[in-house]
Amino acid sequence: MINPASRLNSIELSLIRKMFEVTNPDAINLGIGEPDFNVPENIKNAMKKAIDENDTHYTPNKGYIELREEIVKKFKKENGINTNPENVIVTVGASEGLYMCAQAFIEKGDEVLISNPSFLSYEACVNLANGTAVPVDCTMENEFKLKADDVQEKITGKTKAIILNSPSNPTGAVMDKEDIKAIADLSMDKDFMIISDEIYEKIIYGKKNYSPAKYSDNTITLNGFSKTYAMTGLRIGYLTANENYTEELLKIHQYNIACANTITQRGAYEALTGPQDEVERMVGEFKRRRDLTVTRLNEMGYETVNAEGAFYVFPKIEDEDFVMKAAKEGVITVPGIAFGSNGENHVRISYANSYENIEKAMDILEERIVNG
Ligand code: PMP
Repeated sequence: MINPASRLNSIELSLIRKMFEVTNPDAINLGIGEPDFNVPENIKNAMKKAIDENDTHYTPNKGYIELREEIVKKFKKENGINTNPENVIVTVGASEGLYMCAQAFIEKGDEVLISNPSFLSYEACVNLANGTAVPVDCTMENEFKLKADDVQEKITGKTKAIILNSPSNPTGAVMDKEDIKAIADLSMDKDFMIISDEIYEKIIYGKKNYSPAKYSDNTITLNGFSKTYAMTGLRIGYLTANENYTEELLKIHQYNIACANTITQRGAYEALTGPQDEVERMVGEFKRRRDLTVTRLNEMGYETVNAEGAFYVFPKIEDEDFVMKAAKEGVITVPGIAFGSNGENHVRISYANSYENIEKAMDILEERIVNG
């Protein structure tokens, strides 16, 4: 038996995935982190065409130039970020982008600020790069929004980066513009990097997403097609940064992946250039489900913030056995503690499931757990 590398000592396989393995297949799944919608038809057709045209060869390491040009236009129009195709890399999901950032810029002795609670991969990627993740509290009093003042308090001489994620997984919180701007200013003054994971930028209700890259040249912006276009399994995303950073990131990407998949690159091109009405429809439906979920949970007495984005809510549920009891009754959720210590006494509930299933799940929780 060969021992694994010591960098894996602190890494555990995802608790969320484990939850799915223990529960019955008929349970209503409010634990998932992916849209229940199908990929829009125009995107599917573009991918079928790509196969028929034998578009199955390597592309440039950074991705097809046509796709990168569209990504540049998107960044300018929607995020106020001025970039160019040379500074864009098409990745295998935002996941690869995140991993690239950690491998290219983090090493032993570096501190990386991450929200507590936050998406599981952040701490894992920092640990895999031998860095130290430093949690910054996000509390229910602040609707789980990361505040610049709290970030400032955690900055030390060793701070190398901060990972921002707005809208947030697992809380649905959308950061305020002032905080984004203030953190961007700090990143320039104190010389640290912002890794901005904007994968949920379009799944937002009435608020606007602000990109720190607009204010700080020390930013790497990560994005992808998984959430906006329901393309999770197709594994396609992208990033942009200034040319010095892009060159370092490319070293990781080139020797790890070579290039993203050709078929899904063609799908991604269609996603950006084709009609956007499916996106609007999906976001409208997510909002309807968010309203239902928040209302029902609050009626049950579980204090729940009316989250402004992503497809998660993070109610306060102090019953330690809630997640297990709910799973036995046929509703899968995820314990908040999986996302960091501030997740204690909270549960992540994803509403990326049909309205009818959410109604059923809420009835089950009310009848069998709250009144049971
Ligand atoms: N960032 C966050 C916050 C996420 O929730 C996810 C998916 N669960 C990802 C990144 C990964 O996205 P992708 O499918 O593009 O790798």
